[in-house]
Amino acid sequence: MNATVIRELVRPEVPSLPPYNAGLSSEAVRQRYGASHISRLASNENPYGASPAVAKALVGLALRAGTYPDANCTALRSAIADRTGARAEEIVIGNGSESILQMLCQAFLSPGDRVLTQRPAFGLHEIYPRMMGAQVELLALTPSLAFDLDVWCEALARGPKIAMLANPSNPVGCMFDAKAFARLLAATPAGTLLVIDEAYYEYARLASGFPDALAMLREQSRPWIVLRTFSKAWGLAALRVGYGIASDASLVQWLDRVRTPFNVNEAAQAAALAAWGDTAFMEQAVAETVRQRESMERALRALAVPGLRIAPSAANFLFIDLARPNGPVNEGLLARGIIVKPWKEPGFEDFIRVSIGSAEDNARFVGALREILGA
Ligand SMILES: *Cc1c(COP(=O)(O)O)cnc(C)c1O
Repeated sequence: MNATVIRELVRPEVPSLPPYNAGLSSEAVRQRYGASHISRLASNENPYGASPAVAKALVGLALRAGTYPDANCTALRSAIADRTGARAEEIVIGNGSESILQMLCQAFLSPGDRVLTQRPAFGLHEIYPRMMGAQVELLALTPSLAFDLDVWCEALARGPKIAMLANPSNPVGCMFDAKAFARLLAATPAGTLLVIDEAYYEYARLASGFPDALAMLREQSRPWIVLRTFSKAWGLAALRVGYGIASDASLVQWLDRVRTPFNVNEAAQAAALAAWGDTAFMEQAVAETVRQRESMERALRALAVPGLRIAPSAANFLFIDLARPNGPVNEGLLARGIIVKPWKEPGFEDFIRVSIGSAEDNARFVGALREILGA
């Protein structure tokens, strides 16, 4: 009975929001499918986890559980500033970089504003703008599953308020190289806020031609923010820390107005700082994942499944066109305890995104796919 009243109270933007597809938990798959070993290949997590320095930093935290964390993340911002060449005032820390996306939308978007992003999209690049009543334009890939530079340049020239570009893309893994990125910047009007989401920066850095977006943006006089995260290469997805490096301290100050004051908890700040101090651990994990990605790609091609396509990836996942509806394949994988992400956006119902896991989990995935597809 209350449901009707509540439906009347809810903001008009909310009922049409697509739910974020967070996928199944390991526990749910264990229970529903009776699988004993679970291969988590759906969330682009780092199978090697975080530096051992993180566990050390978290010891003793229970004794500090009664005090509020630093609302300004002073130590972490200063450590990030030191390495990235940004000033601490140009850095914003979020409860995951997803929360910085939310702050950007809350601070800058009003109903009717136009936002540009890619299809298939990282869900939140579409959901948060729509939550604020913005119109989201989703740009198409080329037929060969790459970013379409001409389409992006044309759409940017029309002057959206915000352009959200994940480079490399999630879920596709494709990237704009330095030359293409320079053309994008040249096509963007000075009044557009460029949000460059580099969640997979640490992996993509190893791909030839990947742009130093931060350096290129610093040459520009326009508003921009580059987003990165501790959730992927740094192995801290559970603790929720991401950061943004902005063109201007004033941009960060506007985000501060909409940010919840203690948005990054004590454990998250301590862990991120410790992880940041051990780049060697992160770089080793990233290098191993890139090797595993290449070998998984070879193994998948060797299956010689008719119609199967793999998008070239600069990140820690592969986007695979199965050339058949992903639902039954996904069921077959779940039955074997393997969790991937079957894509649900219109036009991509034949695709799955598989994260690069440990060598063992990757082999289980390829073996399962061979059985399911009868290859
Ligand atoms: C994973 C991811 C994020 C968010 O990561 P957080 O865990 O919120 O820091 C943001 N953007 C893209 C494109 C991602 O894939």
